[in-house]
Amino acid sequence: MKKVLLSGFVLMLSLTAFAQKTYLHAGRLIDVKTKKVLTEQTIVVEGDKILSVSPGYQSGGAEDQVLDLKNATVMPGLMDMHVHIESQTSPTRYVDGFRDNEADVAYKALPYAKITLMSGFTTVRDLGGSGVNIALRNAINNGLVVGPRIYTAGKSIAPTGGHADPTNGVKRDLMRDPGPDEGVINGDADARKAVRQAVKYGSDVIKVTATGGVLSVARDGSAPQFQQDELDAVVRTAKDFGIHVAAHAHGDQGMKRAVKAGIHSIEHGTMMTEETMEMMKEAGTWYVPTVTAGMSAAEYAKIPGYYPPVVRDKAMEIGAQIQETFGRAYKKGVKIAFGTDAGVFPHGDNYREFLYMTEVGMPNLEAIQSATLNAAQLLGIEDKLGTIEVGKIADIIAVSGNPDEDIKVMKDVVFVMKEGKVYKQ
Ligand SMILES: [Zn+2]
Repeated sequence: MKKVLLSGFVLMLSLTAFAQKTYLHAGRLIDVKTKKVLTEQTIVVEGDKILSVSPGYQSGGAEDQVLDLKNATVMPGLMDMHVHIESQTSPTRYVDGFRDNEADVAYKALPYAKITLMSGFTTVRDLGGSGVNIALRNAINNGLVVGPRIYTAGKSIAPTGGHADPTNGVKRDLMRDPGPDEGVINGDADARKAVRQAVKYGSDVIKVTATGGVLSVARDGSAPQFQQDELDAVVRTAKDFGIHVAAHAHGDQGMKRAVKAGIHSIEHGTMMTEETMEMMKEAGTWYVPTVTAGMSAAEYAKIPGYYPPVVRDKAMEIGAQIQETFGRAYKKGVKIAFGTDAGVFPHGDNYREFLYMTEVGMPNLEAIQSATLNAAQLLGIEDKLGTIEVGKIADIIAVSGNPDEDIKVMKDVVFVMKEGKVYKQ
């Protein structure tokens, strides 16, 4: 027995000693902490970790691999803090819900997950779907399918008739009276139950719809939807599990209640006032703008019949305001993490957010920082991810060209490594 153990140990040692390393030669490397572009750097990756980062081009032994990214700009894997990985906009979206079983949703989600990763997004926070998102996260973690690392909310939480009530706009016999198990709550006892149920189902984060929303078949798009005691109960219960709560919010009143309850991030934030921005700075609340969602919804609204009429009107009104709000919040110094609402527009187009952010005054490298370092901080995983540093998990991507000079090159992702494994080259 002792001998077997010993030889196992020796074998392990020798495997470590001769493990293949990957030497990445980065023509440009973005240091997202200092917001500086370094040139001619070598990143050494062993297993799923970054072993070293040093100036100049080095290569290891004959067994090691060298990857030439001398003409590219290398940066940490991008992180999108607001996606809906299991669905994508389509003129048939409102009918699909009546036709698709869970397995249909799952099969449709596979290319969404794949294109997200291939577009350089190695981590996403999924803020609401049917529950297939939890299974998809597990399948990716187990190496069964290709996709980004997912932190998911499972199903969003709303009050009866709220933005995330799954039975909005349907006839009465289909409407039923969904409860906490389906993320619909009324009162603080329901709120506690819904959070506990979400955790039991496997959610990593809780999502509430603090105000009306654009894409639900419901009249109001911005009024507050929870009373204070309900939001307080959601946040307090989530805290007991050590998980965050993200709040979808367009109107200012609902946003204020959410910030007061101790929410971790405000999503969209369309009609955010200066007063709310101050409250968020004071409380350390994150803002995840999703400008791309607003822009896309306003565009689709122009296509006749694309949305139901009630949705079309809200999309036209609310859609384009987000960019201006984002610009003000940025100047005010609210903490910002990159998020797009991908799924409201095609997955893989997440890079568009960089264009909108920089259009209203955020410097290019700061936008990239918001999608790496800041996002990792929002998730509380900055000790493992978000920068290219010794000991961190090797999530590394590269774009052709230099995004410091031209942010549009964020579209041209030429290299993707997740956990030390190359997915695109
Ligand atoms: Zn969303």
